[in-house]
Amino acid sequence: MPARRTSSFSESMIREMTRVAQQTGAINLAQGFPDFPMPAPMKEAACAAIRGDINQYAITWGAPSLRLAIAEKYRRMYGMDVDPDREVTVTCGATEAMAAVFLALVDPGDEVIILEPFYENYGPDAILADARPVFVPLEGPDWRLDPERLRAAFGPRTKAIVVNTPHNPTGRVLTREEMTLIAELCVEHDVWAITDEIYEHIRYAGSHHVLATWPGMSQRTITISGLSKTFSCTGWRIGYAIAPAGISGAIRKVHDFLTVGAPAPLQEAGAVGLAFDADYYNRLAQRYREGRDLLCGALSEAGFSFTAPEGAYYVLAGFSALSDADDVGFAHWLAEEGGVATVPGSSFYHKRALGRGLVRFAFCKRMETLEAAAERLVGLQARV
Ligand code: GLN
Repeated sequence: MPARRTSSFSESMIREMTRVAQQTGAINLAQGFPDFPMPAPMKEAACAAIRGDINQYAITWGAPSLRLAIAEKYRRMYGMDVDPDREVTVTCGATEAMAAVFLALVDPGDEVIILEPFYENYGPDAILADARPVFVPLEGPDWRLDPERLRAAFGPRTKAIVVNTPHNPTGRVLTREEMTLIAELCVEHDVWAITDEIYEHIRYAGSHHVLATWPGMSQRTITISGLSKTFSCTGWRIGYAIAPAGISGAIRKVHDFLTVGAPAPLQEAGAVGLAFDADYYNRLAQRYREGRDLLCGALSEAGFSFTAPEGAYYVLAGFSALSDADDVGFAHWLAEEGGVATVPGSSFYHKRALGRGLVRFAFCKRMETLEAAAERLVGLQARV
């Protein structure tokens, strides 16, 4: 029999829907990975690193060049003073960073606050660490944070809060006021913030707020991000966690025994990307804005209900005008009959019923891909 902890979470519905897309030939708007090339200078740098024989283990907590480039980026863009030797851990994607941070920070029975809906990994991360997740809803249709419900979630057993902005799957970009409230509650209750900032450069409204820069937060925030979304290289698996030296030491130990290290030549290429100037990030956001507008137009026309995302590259949409099915049934129907793969909404909630009327569309795709999907979506009305 497999260990009990593995039975308390199911397989990833996001990856499952990618398999469904492959089987049915549906356009994959399920899993959030780009279908266009990553920046050429980074590809060249990766090839050069491999040809230059950088093919053995990097230092466990990250190649010096990449840690330096990370520290430099946080200084340049967010005014943070990050010590690359003691405060940065490079991991196999932000996914491993999040799991390693849970294991390094949380004791069995500790409570961790998670805003819901949430990226599906956080639930299993909590289970693997024996943490008790405490969910605070972001209520549709506009997915605002209710200050009173957030305040009520903090208590004597709270160890940490996970803060993901721009937010997967809702597309919310948390406001300065929301971040201030989170910071005040963390300081008041002596709680850590674990941030997931993987979509930091993909925004259509608002600014990216880095919680570690709030008063009193630098010593209690673990900032997680990575290359996947910013440089369109989700398969490279390069992420990182920035944290005070003490907790970084614990994260590094967990990371070391989980994976030893992230791919060495790709770390060298990551340093090249992190040195790109603001122009690169502006073009990235502009490209995604065009995709968002195209998809949102088609979803409106097709009869879905949703709030247009302020950031990240997802739309969480209600389909009650189209079908009485549940989210899993509708997502399978949409893939098989409509030719568009999505992720069922229940995979972003701890109680399946909460996501029953929702599916998530990802628009990190070429305009041709989105145009083809839009055509299929607009044609749905005739078929339901
Ligand atoms: N973050 C992406 C998503 O939400 C990819 C998830 C994954 O498969 N790791 O779709």
